[in-house]
Amino acid sequence: MAETVELPSRLAILPFRNKVLLPGAIIRIRCTSHSSVTLVEQELWQKEEKGLIGILPVRDDAEGSSIGTMINPGAGSDSGERSLKFLVGTTDAKDQQEAQWHTRGVAARALHLSRGVEKPSGRVTYVVVLEGLSRFNVQELGKRGPYSVARITSLEMTKAELEQVQQDSDFVALSRQFKTTAMELVSVLEQKQKTGGRTKVLLDTVPIHKLADIFVASFEMSFEEQLSMLDSVDLKVRLSKATELVDRHLQSIRVAEKITQKVEGQLSKSQKEYLLRQQMRAIKEELGDNDDDEDDVAALERKMQAAGMPSNIWKHAQRELRRLKKMQPQQPGYNSSRVYLELLADLPWEKASEEHELDLKAAKERLDSDHYGLAKVKQRIIEYLAVRKLKPDARGPVLCFVGPPGVGKTSLASSIAAALGRKFVRLSLGGVKDEADIRGHRRTYIGSMPGRLIDGLKRVGVCNPVMLLDEIDKTGSDVRGDPASALLEVLDPEQNKSFNDHYLNVPYDLSKVVFVATANRVQPIPPPLLDRMELIELPGYTQEEKLKIAMRHLIPRVLEQHGLSSEFLKIPEAMVKNIIQRYTREAGVRSLERNLAAVARAAAVMVAEHEQTLPLSKDVQKLTSPLLNGRMAEGGEVEMEVIPMGVNDHEIEGTFQSPSAMVVDETMLEKILGPPRFDDSEAADRVASAGVSVGLVWTTFGGEVQFVEATSMVGKGEMHLTGQLGDVIKESAQLALTWVRARASDFKLALAGDMNVLDGRDIHIHFPAGAVPKDGPSAGVTLVTALVSLFSQKRVRADTAMTGEMTLRGLVLPVGGIKDKILAAHRYGIKRVILPQRNSKDLVEVPAAVLSSLEVILAKRMEDVLENAFEGGCPWRNNHSKL
Ligand code: ADP
Repeated sequence: MAETVELPSRLAILPFRNKVLLPGAIIRIRCTSHSSVTLVEQELWQKEEKGLIGILPVRDDAEGSSIGTMINPGAGSDSGERSLKFLVGTTDAKDQQEAQWHTRGVAARALHLSRGVEKPSGRVTYVVVLEGLSRFNVQELGKRGPYSVARITSLEMTKAELEQVQQDSDFVALSRQFKTTAMELVSVLEQKQKTGGRTKVLLDTVPIHKLADIFVASFEMSFEEQLSMLDSVDLKVRLSKATELVDRHLQSIRVAEKITQKVEGQLSKSQKEYLLRQQMRAIKEELGDNDDDEDDVAALERKMQAAGMPSNIWKHAQRELRRLKKMQPQQPGYNSSRVYLELLADLPWEKASEEHELDLKAAKERLDSDHYGLAKVKQRIIEYLAVRKLKPDARGPVLCFVGPPGVGKTSLASSIAAALGRKFVRLSLGGVKDEADIRGHRRTYIGSMPGRLIDGLKRVGVCNPVMLLDEIDKTGSDVRGDPASALLEVLDPEQNKSFNDHYLNVPYDLSKVVFVATANRVQPIPPPLLDRMELIELPGYTQEEKLKIAMRHLIPRVLEQHGLSSEFLKIPEAMVKNIIQRYTREAGVRSLERNLAAVARAAAVMVAEHEQTLPLSKDVQKLTSPLLNGRMAEGGEVEMEVIPMGVNDHEIEGTFQSPSAMVVDETMLEKILGPPRFDDSEAADRVASAGVSVGLVWTTFGGEVQFVEATSMVGKGEMHLTGQLGDVIKESAQLALTWVRARASDFKLALAGDMNVLDGRDIHIHFPAGAVPKDGPSAGVTLVTALVSLFSQKRVRADTAMTGEMTLRGLVLPVGGIKDKILAAHRYGIKRVILPQRNSKDLVEVPAAVLSSLEVILAKRMEDVLENAFEGGCPWRNNHSKL
């Protein structure tokens, strides 16, 4: 392409519609029209050596701009008319239009020719690869058959002319400028396309004026620009034109690059993730790994289908599923929607544990084997089960076990489940103040969840479990709504057929669930809720009961939990008693169980350590029988195999019984549990001075012994009360003081010396433990006793505890929780209990063993109490009688 060709004076002309072939450019064309095919046939195909033809741009009116406005670019040295109107005389409809032939063209050489025949029509076509060589001017246009020919003159410079131009300093500057721009473009393109340095080689070898054409020819440009390049015959004009075009191309590439970078930068994280995920998916597909999101959703759908939802809920679920399918996994709502659907799929809509025919006898046996004592409670449970058996859908009241912690409320409930053959699930309601805890949050909240009920059902996986509402008395209402009202809906058979959880947002049928509740106290339970429940009280155990429970139930269970057996560890009854009396002082057996577990843990450590050093063979040596001798001699360590062969079972048992089955004794107990925490002398120590009395109160932990301390000092006759007291108890104190004052003046009660108790003394009454809140009227008699003791300076009896409300007139009124209180007194080692007369009916509830160990004194009036609280009778009477 570098050499210059001599152009003939005439050239066959192939018109290029709205297109320019520049020198140096290579182009592939397909000729189909009659004229062009004839031209190729005659000028190129049939000639021996490849001929030359002229390519002339033709402006077609149909596409280009109008002739009149056609500018005449590149008006360098040559000016004047550079296009001529010409009517192309072909049959082609388009060709017949008025077209404007340019007067400058480029001579081209065919590099390759191929001839083809179209199948059905038999029409001949040619594909020609042409190389542009040099510019020419058209002097005159004529026809040769169907195609045109032109008389031409070459526009190429002669060698001398060229040399002359190359001397021109302008030209040198221009060519340098072009080269730099071209260089730049080449490196940009090379960076982008990683092509080799081929183009750069071109830059160094091809003469600059040809390079200009070659470069420009390789861009996409408008027809106008192509024409103006063609018309730039003057080298300097051509170079500056080319520099301009190359530069423009360079800029456009740069701008495009910048835009791409910007757009890429703006691709948000999620979009990037999406792209990466798409790629990952493609990779997985390629690898045949199928555990991707699509499949997850499909699995979810299958699970939903298997869940057996009611039809309206199924429709709702499907709607949600369709929404999910349309979402991308990174989309904000995707996860929440999915978690929701998982819940719908997981909920037991119809899955139920099969309820077998209820066997009351078996149920009773089960209750008996799980729990010691509690005869009345068990009886009530059996009645409950019997009603269920006769009328399975009977809407009886909900059983509610009331009692202090650790008395077996939870385990009774789970026994009910076992007796009914149903699954058991426990919902702890302690501290639930928010209605949303029961009913869930609407899904519009971030992090919203279903309520505990629905969650519990999902956990248990069946729609007919026994559900324990634990500590139902500990739910409170506040600004966040009233959980009790939600619970009411749950427990109401009319309403719980379509329980509405805010999160779930579709009704769920709770009617198959058997509810059982527990509470520590009845009082805090809201009355409407109480109305739906039948209370079964479990007041706590006596020491004897606890001992039995420990021996029969707790110890075997604890040993098993620690991988021990009675062969390794023996806890004698005396030691259990010790734990009960000196390490625990509770109504239930929970801390007893904990202490036993502590003993078992310590034993487990010892046994584990022992096992390594236990010289088993020493015992086996004793098994010397002629049968064994031979084996033993040769094997050394084969004892385990030898034993079953000849010796009778009994003998083996004896031999293998661990030589050190640990027996817990007092020292060991103290080592494990520390020094005893309680002893019976506590009451005696505390009432060692006057002004202290021993009361019995009732708390959430069952009955308790409550000391009351009173003291007086010089003051203005005020009363101070401490120990976190409620209003009722404060009023009782007021009442007690008033009564004592009234009586004191009657009986002239005075402190040692002549000072009247009423004058110039402040009184302080304290209820230890100061941190525990206390309230209730039952401390009335205790308060009076403390004050009388204070004023008379006589100590109360340490073996006597009391309870009872008192009126202003000194009558003793009955109080609640008698059984618990007596049990508490018993636990403390108290021997005498003063109770209101009208509580005598409650004594039947107290276990006979406890009653027989206590002296119960029934008091009608305050004077009766005082009479019995002091050694030698009421100090007043003494005073009074002295007067
Ligand atoms: P609560 O629910 O009343 O706080 P739990 O049911 O958790 O008490 O009982 C605490 C532990 O005491 C459990 O291991 C339970 O089995 C045991 N327990 C309580 N009462 C008895 C009993 N009468 N017979 C056997 N074990 C009992």
